[in-house]
Amino acid sequence: MINIGVDIGGTRTKIGLVQDGILVQKVIIESSDHDNFQKNLENIDQTIRQFSIAEIGTVGFAFPGIVDMNSKKVLSTPQKYEDAVNIDLEAWTKERFKAKFVIDNDARAALIGEKFFGIAQSTDNFVIITLGTGLGTSVMINGKVLYGKHFQAGCLGGHMSVKYNGNPCKCGNIGCAESEASTLMLENYIKGNSSFQESKLSEVSVLDFYHLIQCVKEKDGLAQEILDHFIRVWSTLAINLIHAYDPDLIVFFGGIMKSHEFILPKMKEIIDQQAWTPWGKVKLAKSSLGDDAGMLGITSDFYTDKDKRLFL
Ligand SMILES: [Zn+2]
Repeated sequence: MINIGVDIGGTRTKIGLVQDGILVQKVIIESSDHDNFQKNLENIDQTIRQFSIAEIGTVGFAFPGIVDMNSKKVLSTPQKYEDAVNIDLEAWTKERFKAKFVIDNDARAALIGEKFFGIAQSTDNFVIITLGTGLGTSVMINGKVLYGKHFQAGCLGGHMSVKYNGNPCKCGNIGCAESEASTLMLENYIKGNSSFQESKLSEVSVLDFYHLIQCVKEKDGLAQEILDHFIRVWSTLAINLIHAYDPDLIVFFGGIMKSHEFILPKMKEIIDQQAWTPWGKVKLAKSSLGDDAGMLGITSDFYTDKDKRLFL
C-alpha cells in the first residue's frame, strides 16, 4: 500500500510518497501564510494529486505543535497555523483521498523515523533535537515514545528555559531555547549586535544558519561569536534533556547539520564536562535520515499497528 507523509514546517512542507518504509518520491513546497492553515491544506491537496496514485492507504501529517494522536486533532500551535485547531483533518483526508489519517507532533514523527529506519535503531533511550525555524524535541525512554497525559511530554524541549531573564517567547514563557537560539530570532539577534556593520554578516542577503556558517568559515569574528552563543544555548538545552530523560544518544536535525563539524564537537565538549551522567557519556550524532525522517516516521507501522505503538 502507498502512503503519503506530509511534514509541515515553518518555511517548507515536505510531501513524500512512501511504500513499505521506502521514500519513493518527494516534493517540497513553500509553506504559505502562517495565519491560514486551510490555504496550506489546498497546496498539500494539489501536490498529493500530482503523484497520480490510484489508491492511498494512509495520509500522515507531521505537524509543528501539540497534537493528540488518538483523537487526531491539533491541540495548540501558538502564532502558527492556529486555525488548524478547528479543522477536522481526518474528515478532510477522507473526503479528498478516501484514505486513513494519522497525525502527530513533527519531532515525534522524526524520532520514530530514526528509531525504525535511521541511526537510532540500536537504542531504546534517545532524544532528538531539531534546529530550525523553531526548536523541536522528542523522547524515547526504554523503547516507548514519551507523550504524557496532555500529549506535551518531551516535545516541548524547545520551550525549556535556558535564561530566566531572556527573550519573551511566543509560547508565553521567557528565555526558551527557541527564543534564544533559533532561525526565528537569528536575524534580529545579529542586527542587534553593535559590531554588525563591520561584520561580513552585514553583506549577506539572508541572515540564516547557512550564511552564518559561511561567515564563520571566512573567519568573521561576529559570526563566530554568535555561533558560540548558539552552541552554548543548544548545549544547555541538551543537558536539560539529559537530566530530564536519561538518554544515551541525542540525534540532531536541521539544515545546519550539513556543517555539523562546526557544532557537534564543541557541544560534546560542553556536555561531557557539565552533564551529570555517572554511567558514562551521552553520544551525539547527526540524523541519518535528515529531512525524510518525519515523512518516514509518520507513515510507519507505529501509527497504524497498535502492537507497535509503545508509548508513555
Ligand atoms: Zn517558548
